[in-house]
Amino acid sequence: MASPMWFEIFRQLFDRPFTNPFPVKYAPKNMHAVAKAIEEGKVRINPPVPVPDNFRGKIEYDREACIGCRMCIKVCPANAIEFVPPPDGGPKGGKVKFYMSRCTFCELCTEICPKHCIRMSTEFLMADTNKYSDNLVITDSGRFAEQPPPQAPPKPASPPDAGQQPASGE
Ligand code: SF4
Ligand code: SF4
Repeated sequence: MASPMWFEIFRQLFDRPFTNPFPVKYAPKNMHAVAKAIEEGKVRINPPVPVPDNFRGKIEYDREACIGCRMCIKVCPANAIEFVPPPDGGPKGGKVKFYMSRCTFCELCTEICPKHCIRMSTEFLMADTNKYSDNLVITDSGRFAEQPPPQAPPKPASPPDAGQQPASGE
């Protein structure tokens, strides 16, 4: 006798996978070769799925608006924020910097900041071989007032033809 479990198994056979293969639709033998091919325009990336509202991605920091109060440092559970003293060594004018390699994306720093100069972007491409690279240490993202708020990337207009296996078979 057919049980609900069998119906569920049968249904799932025809479900689309939730995982979005990225950056290409196949499992490459050599990721470096694929990255180079993407750079040279020989392979197009399989676009990432749109991120949901309130996605907590890479931190953005309005350094100029920061008053150096250190509240963000106090609440950070991952010790991912470092105080940068002012050049003159005085009591005022300090700033902070963020180490994304330690960040747990909890958003506590953005909530506590009295100047609203920290926010979470929709950027999630942070793979890097150097955790101290400019990509992963955030020191200044520019003035927020001069930039539009972070937005989720739009859905692709047409079905992506990206990520096909390159002719070279890389
Ligand atoms: S999001 Fe959380 S872990 Fe990351 S820097 Fe802010 S407080 Fe620290
Ligand atoms: S909480 Fe905001 S204003 Fe205070 S040090 Fe951190 S980033 Fe600067």
